[in-house]
Amino acid sequence: MTVALTIIADKPKIAVIGAGASTVYLLHHLLVKGVENIDIDIFEANDWVGCGYPYNRENSAPYLLSNLHPVDLPPLGVSFTQYNIVYGGNIRYQDDEVITRKILGEYLTFNFYHSVNKLLRNNVTVSVLSHHKVTTIHKHHDSFSLMANGQCFGGYKAVVNNAGLGSTIRPHSPYPVCQPANRSGSCYRVVGSSLTAIDTILALAAWHGEFIEGDNTLIYIPHRTLNIKALSPSGVFPSLWYPSHRINDIVTEMRKLCSHSPPRIEALYQRVCLPFFARYLPYIHRQIQYKTFSDALAFLSNTTVSCDAKNKLRIELVAYSAATNMKEISWQEIIDAFLTVIDQTNLLEQQDMLRQSVQKMQPLIAKALAALPVSSAVRLLALINANCLSIKAESVSEEQLADSQADKLVIDCRSAINSYHSTLCFGGLPSSLHAVSTKETQTAKGGSNSSVLCGTPYSRFTASLPGLTECNRLNEQVASSLLTLLEHDRVWTAPYG
Ligand SMILES: Cc1cc2nc3c(=O)[nH]c(=O)nc-3n(C[C@H](O)[C@H](O)[C@H](O)COP(=O)(O)OP(=O)(O)OC[C@H]3O[C@@H](n4cnc5c(N)ncnc54)[C@H](O)[C@@H]3O)c2cc1C
Repeated sequence: MTVALTIIADKPKIAVIGAGASTVYLLHHLLVKGVENIDIDIFEANDWVGCGYPYNRENSAPYLLSNLHPVDLPPLGVSFTQYNIVYGGNIRYQDDEVITRKILGEYLTFNFYHSVNKLLRNNVTVSVLSHHKVTTIHKHHDSFSLMANGQCFGGYKAVVNNAGLGSTIRPHSPYPVCQPANRSGSCYRVVGSSLTAIDTILALAAWHGEFIEGDNTLIYIPHRTLNIKALSPSGVFPSLWYPSHRINDIVTEMRKLCSHSPPRIEALYQRVCLPFFARYLPYIHRQIQYKTFSDALAFLSNTTVSCDAKNKLRIELVAYSAATNMKEISWQEIIDAFLTVIDQTNLLEQQDMLRQSVQKMQPLIAKALAALPVSSAVRLLALINANCLSIKAESVSEEQLADSQADKLVIDCRSAINSYHSTLCFGGLPSSLHAVSTKETQTAKGGSNSSVLCGTPYSRFTASLPGLTECNRLNEQVASSLLTLLEHDRVWTAPYG
């Protein structure tokens, strides 16, 4: 009789750096793809698990909002609706409601442990090493070792970098938000007008007073003097957030147009993006059809014309109810779909010119896609009406930023998008680390049997914003690559008779 035996010499070990949203999606995809018989060590610099930097308890006071509606969440083992019914006190989310950062963090943490438990059935052991900040990765002949807290951890077949923006916080950064909010001052300069700035303004407002429902309107009652000045080059808050149900459909249609286009940004914009404006938003199309992509972005996100921030908020809130009733496609959805197409077709990886032009446009893209949740817009308006908040078109220099005084705290809330930085030192490794592409997987398969893979959207240049959709997309690729690596690494004995 011939018996074929599969002997696994040792259970291979994988190291993952960071236990944020990216790692939640990594574990989910490893489970879905049926990974078996491995050990996963997760190194986390802090003590939180699953929620990462933006959604942990220090940063996510209950009134702070993510810009995600339940339908925007890429799927996980337990859906948000299921989770909400069973564990969330059955809170009903309307179409125009976004999830608070706190609840999103709890949901991600729940899914982290859900995947960990399910993976155990596949003989996959996941260990979390909290308070272990990785400082260096070393490559050895056929494995990797990591330095964390002065200790060396070795024998890893692959390392996944899911460290996000890193554990270092910029000086004057608002995070953790409770720190600037808890101080006793009354005069604040918030530098920036986008989502981080809005988080901070609302945290300060909650600390200094309360919002009360009036007749059809929200009123802010300060308990002590509060004077917040938001300063940004545009002098306006982002446009209102619209529920986005159709992005995937638009992406599918756009991809068909994309295949015959030269990968240059203007050509792609003319051929792939503008026709959607012509079809769904003809009145906007008439105004942008002769503009370049960057001029159109600036026009759409109101960064070219100086306008009164209060009026803009008011007008948008009125337009919002009309637009959501008509279920009209929003311009943000079209731009979002266009950028997703650029990312998904890996055009950025192939074309330096396209990459460079998108890189230059990154602040404009961030501004155009940063969408203001309705409930935040209503609160901002209440603060302006109570004379507690004003917004000015003004750029702030580094010197002004450093000039924080006892009763005039300057808080740096400029976009995280501009602060891509390398978080780890890769000793003995090539300095350029990319998210895994099919090409790299093949190299790994054919050549070496170990690799460093990046799943965090911050380690990689993408056209769209580094949100949960990116975490999901990249970590699906990383999970596939890990499986290929592990498959190649298995030891098969010859059949014997
Ligand atoms: C202020 C802010 C607000 C945001 N709001 C939204 C939003 O509303 N919606 C949205 O879709 N996206 C938002 N984003 C983008 C968001 O960051 C991503 O969606 C997601 O959090 C990225 O997940 P991550 O796991 O890659 O990184 P992170 O969430 O940053 O997690 C990385 C983890 O790695 C740990 N770590 C870092 N360095 C090390 C190290 N050397 N050793 C060990 N552990 C380490 C960190 O402690 C952290 O837990 C926001 C980002 C920021 C900064």
